[in-house]
Amino acid sequence: MMNSFTEFTSILAANYNLLAAFVVLAGIVVINRIGNFLVFLVPELRRMREENRQEDGKKKALEKYPPVMRASRNIGGITNATFFLLILPFCVTLENVNIVDIALNSILILMVYDFFYYLSHRFWFHGNGWMRRIHAVHHQARHPTYIDAYYVHPFETFIGVTLFLGTIAVLAAFTGPFHAWTAIITYLVFLNLNIINHTSVNLPHFPFRTLSWITKKHHIHHENMHKGNYATITLLYDRIFGTLD
Ligand SMILES: [Zn+2]
Ligand SMILES: [Zn+2]
Repeated sequence: MMNSFTEFTSILAANYNLLAAFVVLAGIVVINRIGNFLVFLVPELRRMREENRQEDGKKKALEKYPPVMRASRNIGGITNATFFLLILPFCVTLENVNIVDIALNSILILMVYDFFYYLSHRFWFHGNGWMRRIHAVHHQARHPTYIDAYYVHPFETFIGVTLFLGTIAVLAAFTGPFHAWTAIITYLVFLNLNIINHTSVNLPHFPFRTLSWITKKHHIHHENMHKGNYATITLLYDRIFGTLD
């Protein structure tokens, strides 16, 4: 008994790569900072940010916004910290950098996550049970701006973050640890798409057409709780299952 327990803990210890998890965290923070700086060197995008900030200011002054945002941020922080410390070190490695593997694994993680998010969003968040009332908090924003990405009931934040991070963990259990770059790329795409789709962007010309399309699609979803566009990464599943609005 003692032996098998010692064996078990030594296997765990051998597969726990805290350095790789730290590299993932540092990579996400640094690249996100640099990306934000570079993106807002573009005058049109700076103008859009200013417009969002003006609307956000009005919303922040409403009594209901700050407590929901604070609670959501705290739960998101705790969920992320737990994952980065206790689970991610078993799921990432710094060995064997291979660009093709990194690209394919990133697509795999994002598409599997988006499928399960699509199902949860469509049938659970918009179903007939108690989760609908929780999701309705986020749907109060009929004309979302930047801040509404964070105006989410803390329980929904917990579910959303767990679904994404859990996808990485479950897939890693099948395929073996992912390269740190895979975790960095997927996390940045997940994080930024969930923010971008809430911002108000009105630039329907080249090269901003796709950006405007992404925001328009999620804004349609916010018009009322009967609209489609449930997926967050590509809307591919909305196309396949006929819920694209
Ligand atoms: Zn919804
Ligand atoms: Zn939304």
